[in-house]
Amino acid sequence: MPQTDKSINEQIQEYATIFKLPAIKESFASIAQETVHNNLSYSQFLLKLFEYEYQKKIERSRETTLKMAGFPKVKTLEMFDFKASSVDRNLINELSTLRFIENAQNILLIGPSGVGKTHLAIALGYLATQARIKTKFITAAVLLLQLEIAQQTNRLQHYFKKVINPTKLLIIDEFGYIKLNENQANLFFQVINKRYEIGSIIITSNLSFTKFKEVLNNDEALTTAILDRLVHHSHILNIQSESYRLKQKRRECKYNCVNPYKKIR
Ligand code: ADP
Ligand code: MG
Repeated sequence: MPQTDKSINEQIQEYATIFKLPAIKESFASIAQETVHNNLSYSQFLLKLFEYEYQKKIERSRETTLKMAGFPKVKTLEMFDFKASSVDRNLINELSTLRFIENAQNILLIGPSGVGKTHLAIALGYLATQARIKTKFITAAVLLLQLEIAQQTNRLQHYFKKVINPTKLLIIDEFGYIKLNENQANLFFQVINKRYEIGSIIITSNLSFTKFKEVLNNDEALTTAILDRLVHHSHILNIQSESYRLKQKRRECKYNCVNPYKKIR
């Protein structure tokens, strides 16, 4: 950079822009002041600058990974009331180490509506994003829609290459609410097959395994092939508590309010 009549601070800021060091650009002056105040060496000052830039870079990367995951709403394990759930807390603690992702294992969250399946799936996914692991949350319905559109526009290979394969943790929410036709069932198999022993899947479903066939076009062979791959290296959580929504509503409606869940006599 040529010598100019710019102040030292302005020149430092320009170099920080050129070298893409946004945190140093913003905070070098206060870090310099702190260095003087604490009587630190030049080397320590430089180290502090690098450390700060690195820390901010990690924070930005966590934010981007979180945004890319596409959670409808962030839910965490701290927000989950284990006392109100039949879910095995030790197992959730083990899963929260995220070793299951390293080992390309799956998690199957099975149970009726409102028991916290989506909450737990997002909470584990959130932890993954904070560890900067590429995560994608998608409902089964949207996944199938995207697969079909990709297929119709001859971009199925591209969709797998860009969306399905690079994702380390794929969360498929609400499998079982819609029945798949033959083509959709085949596309769904391709997703499960592509990720088998390569990347983790978390799948939530209101259906027990015995009912999967009904959703998968009543295709026995395909259902077995899907379940085999899903279950082979997996953690299965069958949550059979009462709906948390219902429980909460009942608590709210204890005193004089219209309870939509109350049986009509
Ligand atoms: P499901 O996916 O099983 O239908 P959700 O995960 O959507 O259920 O849970 C329904 C609502 O209840 C969500 O707002 C969720 O955060 C909350 N919820 C469910 N179980 C619990 C729990 N044990 N502790 C705290 N909130 C819960
Ligand atoms: Mg759900």
